[in-house]
Amino acid sequence: MDIEQFRKAGYQAIDRICDYYYNLQSKPVVSSVEPGYLRECLPAEPPQKGENFDDIADDYQKLIIPGLTHWQHPSFFAYFPTACTFEGMIADLYASSTANPGFNVSGNFMIEDAVFNPSLQWSASPACTELEAVMMDWAAQLLGLSPEFYNTSGMGGGAIQVRGYLASDVESNQTHQPQSTASDSALIAVVAARSLYQRKHPEAELQELVIYTTSQTHSLGLKAGMVLGLSVRVIDVTWNDHFSLRGDTLRSALEEDKVNGKKPFILLATVGTTSSGAIDNLPEIGAIAKEHPDLWVHIDSAWAGVALSCPEYREALHLEAINDYAHSFCTNFHKWGLTNFDASTLWVRDRKYLTEALDVTPPFLRTAHGDAGTVIDYRNWHLGLGRRFRALKLWFVLRSFGVQGFQDYIRRTIKLNALFASLVKSSDQLAIVTPPSLSLTVFHLNPKSVATHTESAARDSLNSLNKIFYGRISARNDILLTSTVLNGIFCIRFAVGSARTEESHIHAAYDLLCKEGQAAVDLWEQ
Ligand code: PLP
Repeated sequence: MDIEQFRKAGYQAIDRICDYYYNLQSKPVVSSVEPGYLRECLPAEPPQKGENFDDIADDYQKLIIPGLTHWQHPSFFAYFPTACTFEGMIADLYASSTANPGFNVSGNFMIEDAVFNPSLQWSASPACTELEAVMMDWAAQLLGLSPEFYNTSGMGGGAIQVRGYLASDVESNQTHQPQSTASDSALIAVVAARSLYQRKHPEAELQELVIYTTSQTHSLGLKAGMVLGLSVRVIDVTWNDHFSLRGDTLRSALEEDKVNGKKPFILLATVGTTSSGAIDNLPEIGAIAKEHPDLWVHIDSAWAGVALSCPEYREALHLEAINDYAHSFCTNFHKWGLTNFDASTLWVRDRKYLTEALDVTPPFLRTAHGDAGTVIDYRNWHLGLGRRFRALKLWFVLRSFGVQGFQDYIRRTIKLNALFASLVKSSDQLAIVTPPSLSLTVFHLNPKSVATHTESAARDSLNSLNKIFYGRISARNDILLTSTVLNGIFCIRFAVGSARTEESHIHAAYDLLCKEGQAAVDLWEQ
């Protein structure tokens, strides 16, 4: 493809994307293709000769789009949203147009101890690193994070994660960087915490180290343990505490492990769990953590964290505690933060814990500024060397929406969820299972007719009924919800967040759920 062909194909692609969004509402949310449909449509081997691009672009429309679940559909209420925006799309297009791995901002290359190319101050695109450093500080301010987490602090900092990336220990004011997913961010926090613990306690054996999670922590906790070959303790959190980790529970686990010679070195706490939006009790955890200075506390707020942009939610989300003692904090702008997948932001209170764990600088990557520690080498903040230019989309989104536009969107989606929760509360058939959390409601079908004599019989009956109910909802292609199990209760999650969802979609969803609920009850009673 030459430049003019690209111009034509590019205009056509934008036209088709606009048509996609104009027509999105009339599309099914869920694809109805059968597993393996695509293999049947594609040749088994790559073409020997290049093909006409018009045919390739047409095949995207014909073969790929029908196999997509439309996460931006206004009736998508599953998982958590991946709210994307046109600003983000354009940024991604620009970013990929220069295909810039932007892994280092350091200056002059070094050979032995001599500066090789004095004019080469920025070898891998300064704009990528510089924009990321500034965007992470903008985002930190948006969320109300303490200046200790700003890159300008010279101590802490942030970055967008790229398969595990850690901050450098320079005096250049970087503490936060974006990651590709919250799982990468957690993994990097564990790597940094492990390395810090081992430096403080060189006698500790790897098999003694334990990662703390709760029964509501995302799979990222167990995965980090699997990847790093470390033990994971899953602390049970209870229904009575709304699935929040309490200080006493943490203290008991720490004391028990100490007696058994175990070395808990990191707690992966959550603000806004996936199943129910539960929020660990960070003030109580903070008091315990202060008694156990070896315990790194990482806060995973992949979904809920962006709600910190609205001051009225900061108390409930424990911002003060995060600012007071968290070692690291992660939220995904690519979930509820209007920024196209992927943009997972990780802040650390002390960047040197990242670089001490991850800085490997072979001769071919040495630079004078890097050696002098006067610039950030983000490659030392995570596993990857090359990194996509993700900060660009954060810049476009934050500028185009502004703080107020961003807050308006968060508040609007929380209001839509409150509407859904109020409809459920007014229903004879549906019932809320746990208190609605921000833009998430967990509910189930709970008609009076199902009440039976014993609690466990009632639960079993309700679960059977709800599985029929959920089966009916899942068989539809005009709405998508996901399920979970809380305290043995099979429940359904309703997560609002698509930028295109309006009140009418909430009412339509509620009507549809009532209809399917009644049909499930009728079937169950037969
Ligand atoms: N943490 C929480 C609380 C989540 O809800 C999710 C996904 O829903 C994740 C982590 C995983 O996010 P990622 O896909 O960015 O790893």
